[in-house]
Amino acid sequence: MSPGKKRDYYEVLGVDKDANTNDIKIAYRKLARKYHPDVNKEDPDAKDKFIEVQEAYEVLSDPDKRRNYDQYGFSGVDIDMSDFFRGGIPGIDELLKSIFGGFSPFGGFDNFGFSSFGSRARGRSAPRREVGQDLEEHISITFEEAMFGVKKDISIQRYTPCDACEGTGAEDPSSVKTCPQCKGSGRIRKMTQSGFGTIIRESECYRCNGTGKVIEKKCKVCNGAKVIPEDKIIHANIPAGVENGVHLKVQGGGHVPSVNAIPGDLYVGISIEENENFIRRGNDLYTIVDIDIITAILGGKIRVPTLDYKNETIKEKELTIPAGTQYGTEFRIKNRGVSYLRGKGKGDQYVKINIKIPEKLSEEQKKLLLKFRELAEN
Ligand SMILES: [Zn+2]
Ligand SMILES: [Zn+2]
Repeated sequence: MSPGKKRDYYEVLGVDKDANTNDIKIAYRKLARKYHPDVNKEDPDAKDKFIEVQEAYEVLSDPDKRRNYDQYGFSGVDIDMSDFFRGGIPGIDELLKSIFGGFSPFGGFDNFGFSSFGSRARGRSAPRREVGQDLEEHISITFEEAMFGVKKDISIQRYTPCDACEGTGAEDPSSVKTCPQCKGSGRIRKMTQSGFGTIIRESECYRCNGTGKVIEKKCKVCNGAKVIPEDKIIHANIPAGVENGVHLKVQGGGHVPSVNAIPGDLYVGISIEENENFIRRGNDLYTIVDIDIITAILGGKIRVPTLDYKNETIKEKELTIPAGTQYGTEFRIKNRGVSYLRGKGKGDQYVKINIKIPEKLSEEQKKLLLKFRELAEN
């Protein structure tokens, strides 16, 4: 292998220009197993080939680096593999495990960090994506909207990667440099002498905040912040039957800290306006209806407000009251309650009877009631 003459990274891994992350991983794993010096003892160039494969993988597996490479070639990526392999080439199993992770006996997917692999590798060995912060917004909806469901546009302001610099914070890719302080590892070591000998202490690099990169010329739009505030309208579907005070999660509606980050979520706090005709208890609705004394005694028809699911409105429904209805009697109207959020079906509506006693009577009414009493006593 002639030094100074680099092979195209796609060629090294034997993948197409439009290969996806998975193709790249598969190709890399195969080649790493083929050329790793622990495995390949015949080929005198195995080590160099392995380093070449590793470097190609470093670039193509990182969407930022890959984009820069696609756009600017080798000059777009600032990668120094001697730094990567400082401390020697890690064992093949360790290496693959550190990159692809392994299954822990507890059922979770674990990523291992290896102290012998150096700190920079640890950062890479945990392909945990950055997660954006969540946002919270509050909206107020009417009782009807809560009952029938509603689509709401919610305006939010969130952080999103700067378009001008594609979230790098740099004016152009060439002004992103490996941090001279930590040489890209993101960690710095301090040696101190003590009575027991030399103590090496490692900490996050102060110059690059552990990113391993510094920016020479900042992006003029975001001033190096990598993100800009974005006003966005989130279309939220509020489901029928939503409860007062809940927070609905809109996945991905939160902050987006970087191009490859998993966006945070948006939590929409719901407050439901009261409706004078309905009291909600779980999935049931209660309506208190005043009826006059004669209807209570003789029976009759009354009208009660109820949910009309077909037309998504509140409509009056006729209800027959039997003769001799007592105060506090509850009549059930099936399936006119609140929709279940999980599963099909609805609660019921209960119509609770309140009997209005007349406060004033005419002389004639009084006479007739007295007569009524006489008859009732006999
Ligand atoms: Zn640094
Ligand atoms: Zn910018």
